[in-house]
Amino acid sequence: MKDTAYRIDGFKDSIFGVISKLAREHQAFNLGQGFPDFDGPDWLKEFAHQKMQEGHNQYAPFPGTINLRNEVSNYYQKFYQLNYNPETQITITVGATEAIYLVINALINPGDEVVVLEPFYDSYVASIKMAGGVPVPVTMHAPDFNVDSKELAAAISPRTKLLILNNPHNPSGKVWLKDELLAVCEMARKNDLYLLSDEVYEFLLFDGAKHIPTATLNDMYERTITVSSAGKTFGVTGWKTGWICANKKVTNACRLIHQYVTFSVATPTQEALAEGLKRLDTYLPDFVSLYKGKRDFFYQGLKSLGFDFAIPRGTYFMMVPIGSKTKLKDVDFALELIKTYQVATVPPSAFYLKSTEGEKFLRFCFAKKEETLKGALENLKRL
Ligand code: PMP
Ligand code: GLN
Repeated sequence: MKDTAYRIDGFKDSIFGVISKLAREHQAFNLGQGFPDFDGPDWLKEFAHQKMQEGHNQYAPFPGTINLRNEVSNYYQKFYQLNYNPETQITITVGATEAIYLVINALINPGDEVVVLEPFYDSYVASIKMAGGVPVPVTMHAPDFNVDSKELAAAISPRTKLLILNNPHNPSGKVWLKDELLAVCEMARKNDLYLLSDEVYEFLLFDGAKHIPTATLNDMYERTITVSSAGKTFGVTGWKTGWICANKKVTNACRLIHQYVTFSVATPTQEALAEGLKRLDTYLPDFVSLYKGKRDFFYQGLKSLGFDFAIPRGTYFMMVPIGSKTKLKDVDFALELIKTYQVATVPPSAFYLKSTEGEKFLRFCFAKKEETLKGALENLKRL
């Protein structure tokens, strides 16, 4: 038989699938893959049921149902004073993962370079490779996960077309400060790059941190493509519903691909999420305080076990330094934790192309029931 396409040479099972499978096999507390092990709001599930009963069960229009696009448009206007026309600038996708794939494939020709800030969500590099592009990593250095402007400048070449930024940042939990964002935006502007801003954790902010959408910064609206996901905001990652907000030209290109990759996203969930977005004002305070409680509880627990690091201000992840507990690198330590201590985490070296800094950390997801967090902490005491 002939070979499969060289575009996927070197692709492996994603770290999230691998860790979740091992966690099941070893009956470990799973603090690896980023999803809540509890359900999203009952009222949202009731809307999904209601929408099915009302007959919203056939293909949605390929850019997404107009109700959901309208509500996405409304919240960007209301929270960030950003105007996106639902007809021409908003596309509903199968999670942010499809959104990322579409944006990259809409923009990148074979040989084009894409700057990725590492550690990164692993689908960025895979999507770049599927488009024939070349990922060029720039390291966000631990422990603050800051970008060095000189390193960023050195990574940009005449072939660079796109830069990908994630804020709030998975896996570090960093919430970018305005000046840091401006420095990256300035580089994008100077070099005429598109900027893909992955903002799926836009509402998971603690301790007064404020989300600054990249598109709101000086002259960045046209060149920024913003991606987000209802999976995070409503704690329903399995609904796999996300969106792209972009200028008309990029939106059109993304939609041309989307119509042939998936055509459209599940209709009842889109209609339910439109109701969800209408209720953001009343929903968000409880949502944030739920996750803040989990973050504080788990952070205190890890501190009392001797792990020393700064508390993250966003997302539902913590990058925890492991040097005080082991001489092992992240992958081996993660395997030991699963097999011997029944605690699953993600070894972050999967999120790096260049630097080995990830080997000194494990990523813990604290979007878990109290009993899961307690059980994991209890087992970690044996370390
Ligand atoms: N971007 C980041 C930074 C993520 O962490 C994730 C997944 N948790 C995604 C995108 C993908 O989101 P979705 O599940 O909506 O595809
Ligand atoms: N983004 C999620 C994480 O970081 C996982 C998404 C996935 O499993 N593809 O854990």
